[in-house]
Amino acid sequence: MAEQPGPVVVVPHSNPDGDAIGSAYGLAVVLRNSGREVKIVSPNDYPSFLGWLNGEVEIINYLKKRGAAEAVLRRSSVMFCVDFNEIKRADEMEKEVASFRGVKILIDHHPEPTPFCDLMVSEPTYSSSAELVFDLVVALGWRKYLDHSAAEALYTGIMTDTGSFSYSTNRPGLYRVLSELMTFRLDTAAIHARVYDNFSADRMRLMGHAILHKMVVLPEYRTAFISLTRQELKMFNFVPGDTEGFVNIPLSVNNIVFTALFIEKENLVKASFRSRGSFPANGFAAAHFSGGGHLNAAGGEDKAPLEEVISKFTQLLPAYLHLLENADNE
Ligand code: 5GP
Ligand code: MN
Repeated sequence: MAEQPGPVVVVPHSNPDGDAIGSAYGLAVVLRNSGREVKIVSPNDYPSFLGWLNGEVEIINYLKKRGAAEAVLRRSSVMFCVDFNEIKRADEMEKEVASFRGVKILIDHHPEPTPFCDLMVSEPTYSSSAELVFDLVVALGWRKYLDHSAAEALYTGIMTDTGSFSYSTNRPGLYRVLSELMTFRLDTAAIHARVYDNFSADRMRLMGHAILHKMVVLPEYRTAFISLTRQELKMFNFVPGDTEGFVNIPLSVNNIVFTALFIEKENLVKASFRSRGSFPANGFAAAHFSGGGHLNAAGGEDKAPLEEVISKFTQLLPAYLHLLENADNE
């Protein structure tokens, strides 16, 4: 790649999570350490609990600094798209990604990629894009460019995409990657605290409100869901990232195998789905919410008003009763 002029640009998906930022940042630091000019251009803002991942490589927010982002994109000859496998997930930057003139390289772990890049590193058996970035970096002979910052970022991506090592952790190679990352003397307790013990009191109260007043449990369908209106979000001074993890909460209720979180946005409802066992959250999201994702963690959206989206959701459940009842059978 050394002969390619201009910076390398690394693009995570819109509304980036810990793995999107962690894998983008880890990769970017490695590229920087190899002597390349590198920038991360994020389609929109990233949550403040990941704000400590900065300083080594600039993260340009496309939505806020469009001019600067476009200038970087124009100069770049290589674009890495990380942690997403369909161009729609670039959202605000969809057109920029589509019209990018250089070489586009995808690094991702979601099932069923739709090709929009020139090169595709797609490994759905991996827990996270961050885990995949590590193996790719080693395979390319770039291990010498890994440093403490890159290792911290990649560890963060793995930690957040596995719910702190509670799911998607069955690939034996994951533990080799983790053990290699640990050679950089990571303070894993401190990383966990930075990400998970870093919320505002408002966010904690929003969570309390969501559980106490907004969680609907439908034991006959082994399903529970939470919905939040824009007004409720405003009441608790919502900032991006505040509802992160809410969708997982009802999965802790005895016998629940399918959960949903509906968040009312300006022009649409954002839906998140989680499931246990064999219930296909991604199939459900793809069939009814223009979305997708992993078997047990998926998402999508719907342009109908929130109330309609909720009744559509509950009316769909009877058709899935058999799958819901048998979710824990292989
Ligand atoms: P989350 O619920 O955390 O937003 O998303 C969980 C997973 O669902 C993501 O890692 C991603 O794979 C998938 N996902 C979320 N939203 C969408 C969407 O709008 N479209 C698609 N295809 N996948 C989504
Ligand atoms: Mn991921």
